[in-house]
Amino acid sequence: MIQSHIGVFIGNGYHRGGLMAELLKGSEAANALKHELGYRNSELTAKGVTPCLAIVRVGERPDDLAYEKGVLKYFNALGIGAKVKALPENISQDMFEREFASVNEDESVHGILLFRPLPKTLDEEPVIKLIDSDKDVDCMSPKNFAKVFIGDDTGFAPCTADAVVELLKRYKIPLKGSEVVLAGRSLVVGKPLSMLLLGEDATVTICHSKTENLAEVCSRADILIAAIGVPKMVKKEFIKPGAVVIDVGINVDEEGNMCGDVDFDEVSEAASKITPVPGGVGTVTISVLAMHTLKAAEKAAARK
Ligand code: NAD
Repeated sequence: MIQSHIGVFIGNGYHRGGLMAELLKGSEAANALKHELGYRNSELTAKGVTPCLAIVRVGERPDDLAYEKGVLKYFNALGIGAKVKALPENISQDMFEREFASVNEDESVHGILLFRPLPKTLDEEPVIKLIDSDKDVDCMSPKNFAKVFIGDDTGFAPCTADAVVELLKRYKIPLKGSEVVLAGRSLVVGKPLSMLLLGEDATVTICHSKTENLAEVCSRADILIAAIGVPKMVKKEFIKPGAVVIDVGINVDEEGNMCGDVDFDEVSEAASKITPVPGGVGTVTISVLAMHTLKAAEKAAARK
C-alpha cells in the first residue's frame, strides 16, 4: 500500500474518503506489449535484421536526458538497437542539418527520434522536410500526419497519441459510440489523437485555450483526455461521475513534484478509472516508440 498526501493506493485503486477510482497503470500496458515486441524483434533478428532507433539530441535538457535514459533502458531490455547522436547546444544550423542527414541516410537506422523543442537558434523546418517518412517513427513529417488524418495505418502517428489509444484498448475501455472530450489541440497530441479516436468510432469533441465553459464541455465526457500542459487544471467539476480520465500532462508543481494536468486527488473521487502521473501514459509512450521502430524495420526488411 502506497501512502499519498491525502489518499492511499490499494491494489489497482486509489482510495480517498470512501471512493475509489481504478488506476490505469501504464506499466500493465507496457508489460503486455513487451511480449509482443520481443516476439517481433526475434522474428526480425532471425531474418538477419537488427532493428535500430537513432535518437538525435541537441544540448542536454534534463527532460530529454531522462526520456533518453528510459528509452535506452526499455530498448536494451528487449534487445532492440538504440543509439544516440548527441549534438552540442551551440551547433550551427548548417552542421545540424548535415548531422541529421547523416543519420537519415544511415541504412542501419530504421527509426529516428528528434528531441524537440530544439534550441531557439535552430530551425526544425528543414529536417521536418528532410526526414525519410519511413523512419519518422514519432510523426514529424507532413506525410505521416496526412496518413493519420486519412486513416492509413502504414505510417506512424505520434507515439503519445498512439499510447493513449493503446492504454484504452489494453484496459478494454469501449471507444465505439463513446463520448470522448479531448482538452488540447496540439499537433503532437490533441489533433492526431482526435483522428485516431474517430477511427475507433468514438464521438470526439476537441477543446482548447479559447473554449468557453470548458468544465461544462468536459463534464459531458465518458472519457476525458487532458493534454493541456497546465498543472492540475482539471478539477472534480470537469468530471461526469464514473468517467474515465486520461492524463497526458507532464508538469512540475509548486513543490517541484511531477504532476499531470488533472488534479488527481479530487478527480479520483469522481472518476471510475484514472491514469496516474507519473506511471500512466508516459510509460506506454516508450513501448509505442519501440513498436514503431519494429514496424519501420519490418517495412525496411519487406522492401529488400
Ligand atoms: P502544447 O502546449 O503544444 O498544447 C497545449 C494545448 O492545450 C493547446 O492546444 C492549447 O490550446 C490547450 N490549452 C492550453 N491552455 C488551456 C486552457 N486554459 N484551457 C483549455 N485548453 C488549453 O502542449 P502538448 O505538447 O500538447 O503537451 C500537453 C501536455 O502533455 C504537456 O503537459 C506535456 O508535457 C505533455 N506531454 C506528455 C507526453 C507523454 O508521453 N505523456 C508527450 C507529449 C506531451
